[in-house]
Amino acid sequence: MNDSAFHYVDGALHVEGVPAASLAEQFGTPLYVYSRDALTRAYRAYADACAGRKATVHVAVKANSNLAVLNVFERLGAGFDIVSSGELARVLAAGGKASNTVFSGVGKSAAEMREALEAGVKCFNVESIPELHALNEVAKSLGKKAPVSLRVNPDVDAKTHPYISTGLKSNKFGVAFGDARATYREARDMANLDVVGIDCHIGSQITEVSPYLDAVDKLLDLVEQIESDGMSIRHVDVGGGLGITYDDETPPDIGDFVRTLLAHFEERGHGQREVYFEPGRSLVGNAGVLLTRVEYLKPGEEKNFAIVDAAMNDLARPAMYEAFHRIVPVMERKASARLYDVVGPVCESGDWLGRDRELAVEQGDLLAILSAGAYGFVMSSNYNTRARAAEIMVDGERARVVREREEVKQLFAGESILPD
Ligand SMILES: *Cc1c(COP(=O)(O)O)cnc(C)c1O
Repeated sequence: MNDSAFHYVDGALHVEGVPAASLAEQFGTPLYVYSRDALTRAYRAYADACAGRKATVHVAVKANSNLAVLNVFERLGAGFDIVSSGELARVLAAGGKASNTVFSGVGKSAAEMREALEAGVKCFNVESIPELHALNEVAKSLGKKAPVSLRVNPDVDAKTHPYISTGLKSNKFGVAFGDARATYREARDMANLDVVGIDCHIGSQITEVSPYLDAVDKLLDLVEQIESDGMSIRHVDVGGGLGITYDDETPPDIGDFVRTLLAHFEERGHGQREVYFEPGRSLVGNAGVLLTRVEYLKPGEEKNFAIVDAAMNDLARPAMYEAFHRIVPVMERKASARLYDVVGPVCESGDWLGRDRELAVEQGDLLAILSAGAYGFVMSSNYNTRARAAEIMVDGERARVVREREEVKQLFAGESILPD
């Protein structure tokens, strides 16, 4: 954590120039805190490695869709990758442009297609033949041509968690590799579609480059066949999925990853082909932490529990994927450490944030759950009628509320009781 936006000064965790403890005092806990500098550096790592090439970064909105986060990327020149019309609305509200936005997702509704076509999205990443027909119909009803790319399932093993691996045959995503060429011919023959690209997304939290190189090889083989069928493929979208360090993973550095992929396009004689990237986690994951306060310590015969005020409704990844997040003290203590399970107040045994963690803590202490910027707040819920956390963006010495803490009365404002 030395050169990162999250670091210790005299035993006190800081986010850029701001002590984390003062953020917790001022804004309460649980609290999501993002670093503008960390977001910026991650984006620039992609953008700088793309410089001089026809290559575009489309930020995967689903990893963190806070308007301030999207706006930081928008100001840096990013495009966006969305999976719902709700995310399109967020991109537009954050100052992003539909014309820089690609629309992914396996189950787009006709209403969502209509909204996206009217807004003028750059490309629909289509995942099935029925979806092609549906999009063609919607485009026809609007008197438009929809730009399309087909998401092809390259059947490569991304070597990641089964829940976040998406490029295997057994998966619900994309058009099977063997069906892709015929599917492109069908798309070509639909009057209100305009074939512009090809895409894949092989999984998430991928820590090696080789699955991407395998996927690019398969996609480029297809591109050559599709172009011989009379279509021109302007861009190849390699998706997102690059991993980050939560614990001891060693994913490739972003710049190295991008340069290796772009070099591979060149080796294959496709150096002029436009390349799209759709990173999510690798842009935002290590740019955010979740601050939480220890409510109670509960020593036991088999286990010690540190019961904190954040829970699975705030950060679902441990409960959902048994994901590991580092948990560190906001103020380092000299006292000796013990092993704790760090758990929340929700009435589920699955409500844990970390297991067997060596911590020197006392009741009332603050902890920081690291690497919480991706699939953190966006996956939070109101389970147990818990109001969702506030989100803060730190920029140098300043901290701004970028989403207010929910109030309980908001949670049932739309509910009503029977009249009799
Ligand atoms: C989720 C997703 C991404 C982003 O994935 P990360 O692992 O967060 O980089 C990109 N593209 C598509 C189609 C996705 O579904």
